[in-house]
Amino acid sequence: MKGKISAIKGTKDILPQEARKWQRVEAVARRVFELYGYREIRTPIFEATELFEKGTGQTSDIVIKEMYTFRDKAGRSLTLRPEYTPSVVRSIIEHRLYLKPEPLRFYYIGPMFRYDKPQKGRYRQFDQGDIEVFGEMDPAVDAEIVEMANFLCKELHVTKIEILVNSVGCKICRPSYLRELRVEAEKARDSLCPDCQRKITINPLRIFDCKVETCKEIAQGFPEITKYLCQECEEHFRQFCAYLEFYKISYKVEPHLVRGIDYYTKTTFEFVSKKLGAQDAILGGGRYDDMMKVFGGPDICGIGFAIGMGRLISVVPSKGMEGGFLYLAYLGEEAKKAGMGLVQFLRSKGVECLIEFKERSLKNQMSRANKLGATWVLIVGEDEVREGKYQLKNMTTGVQEEKTREEILKGIQEAS
Ligand code: AMP
Repeated sequence: MKGKISAIKGTKDILPQEARKWQRVEAVARRVFELYGYREIRTPIFEATELFEKGTGQTSDIVIKEMYTFRDKAGRSLTLRPEYTPSVVRSIIEHRLYLKPEPLRFYYIGPMFRYDKPQKGRYRQFDQGDIEVFGEMDPAVDAEIVEMANFLCKELHVTKIEILVNSVGCKICRPSYLRELRVEAEKARDSLCPDCQRKITINPLRIFDCKVETCKEIAQGFPEITKYLCQECEEHFRQFCAYLEFYKISYKVEPHLVRGIDYYTKTTFEFVSKKLGAQDAILGGGRYDDMMKVFGGPDICGIGFAIGMGRLISVVPSKGMEGGFLYLAYLGEEAKKAGMGLVQFLRSKGVECLIEFKERSLKNQMSRANKLGATWVLIVGEDEVREGKYQLKNMTTGVQEEKTREEILKGIQEAS
């Protein structure tokens, strides 16, 4: 069709049936986060560009190539948030939340924007579920957030997850690792992609983020950071792993898991699913102990993770996500009014009802109810109105019974 306008490349409509699954998964995620003492924080979708340059890091792929940056009418450089942590840190400092008695544990679910190469599982607008905790240095908290993510997966019946963990050290031990890494990367320079060749000088750690197959293979042979950790980082990592074992969580140490963002210190981790294909990371996270200071705030450590909601939802089984509803079928003007009253009553008692105002035969309405997947059909005709008793059909069992308004409600409530 000429002049047809489509969704922008890398963006996606979530249509009503799928949106319902999203709502359910989001509700479970919120409940789990709240169970662990996290509270929602909502920050703006766009921020000063500088926030991400400083926070996400000048050498990250996100800042170098993936930000949606634009000038507003006043000429300010703004960026659609590519990730959430810098916004939360800004907000904590701006509102001095660290002076309040409440724990600094936050969560948020919403869209992020990255000018990434779109493919299955990778979009330019995508939703993340984020959690952040500040001011708790104990490796027990690192393990608790992994346990929380694992609990969320269990609540959603997500199976075949692998948990990868690592430590990326700190500003004391990382420089000696980077020196070694640079030497090794230099030896492989000619076989690396132009991007990675640039990264050798700027930040060789970022070579591990490269999506080019040959670079990934070469990077496999690079030195492992775990062997360069200072005593403090090594001890932190050891305790983190011990706490994971306390929680009976299976994990695998992946020494090249450095994550694509510059600010990580010590713990990093990822949940991957074999069901996802090339983009297999469902969630990723780690510590960022220096970030608050970088933004001119107090010296408060932090740790968190971000779930790719779309990827998570794609591995959540759909069964049971739909929920039941009642379809009201009526014949004639009087039955229509009685039906309107019945659904008003049932809705007020929490029963989801659909009544459609379009002239259709009873047979036609029954077949629609079937097609739409109704759990119940309530049939209202003139005789039923007169007698105050209606035909309730259970679409799963096929059983049809005559019931009063109260009996209908009771029957539905007992069955659900
Ligand atoms: P990151 O913020 O890069 O650590 O990513 C955290 C999680 O967000 C990943 O594990 C993915 O599940 C998801 N994610 C990151 N980038 C994208 C994208 N472009 N499209 C869809 N999901 C993404």
